[in-house]
Amino acid sequence: MIIGVDIGGTSIKVGLVKKDGTIIKKESYKVVNNNQEKMAEELGNFILKFIGDDLSAIQGIGLACPGIIDRQNGICHTSPNLFWHELHICEIVQNICKKEVRIINDANAAALAELVLGAGKDFNSFVMLTLGTGVGGGIVINHELFEGKDDSETELGHWTLVENGEPCNCGKKGCIEAYCSASALIRETKIAMEQNSSSLMWDFADMLVKANGQTAFEAAKLGDKSALEVINNYVTNLARSIIKINDVYHPEVFLLGGGVSLQKEHLTHKVEEAIMNIGNQKIRVLPSKLNNDSGIVGAACLFLK
Ligand SMILES: [Zn+2]
Repeated sequence: MIIGVDIGGTSIKVGLVKKDGTIIKKESYKVVNNNQEKMAEELGNFILKFIGDDLSAIQGIGLACPGIIDRQNGICHTSPNLFWHELHICEIVQNICKKEVRIINDANAAALAELVLGAGKDFNSFVMLTLGTGVGGGIVINHELFEGKDDSETELGHWTLVENGEPCNCGKKGCIEAYCSASALIRETKIAMEQNSSSLMWDFADMLVKANGQTAFEAAKLGDKSALEVINNYVTNLARSIIKINDVYHPEVFLLGGGVSLQKEHLTHKVEEAIMNIGNQKIRVLPSKLNNDSGIVGAACLFLK
């Protein structure tokens, strides 16, 4: 069995994973920003407690971490959301747990999980986009994760989609992430709700703060005009992003993961349709299979390949 850890900006999820990818148990804790070495020690101690008496049955510990990662040396170079910089996280956790620790960028972990156990299993090449707080991108070529120089992540989410467009968390303007993340969808949902007090979106979120990545989708299914407009704009931007990425990589299929992809085929069919309308192209788009557990499973996959 393997320990898979999904390190997020707000919480850290730890799972006990079987070789077939099944998660046997899962626990999480809230991230408290502290001295980075202390945060790494806290993680090590949490994992140790989580494992309990099963230590001898554990093959290794995989970490999925946001930011720029040096996989070879087990270092998180930089992770803006966690305020980590040159953190030797694998060494610290390994010293506490006495098990081998491996690390991977979180978007790549999601792609790896789909490659080994999920929707990407039967494809030679695919691009996975995770539509969450940000937009992560994982690229698989010839059934291998493409990680670029130093195994650092590719930054598909920060390609420019709109010149001088919406501001992005990375400091640039008009990135794919600023239009296709769940955060971008929620931003547009809230604007539309404020402009239209009779929208059915208010039935799904009675206060603006309750609006989430599903609100506009659900109201649009009932024919609500302003929700339909939000969804059409969102899907159009996603389709334009996919066409752009497809021009370079031309994979067999695109996989969509992250919170927005909970809409499954309802989302992917719309995106395929929009790609056809905009670019007169047929590009295959499928929902990911592992969703919220892709970080844990992908991190565990570091010991399966
Ligand atoms: Zn950006």
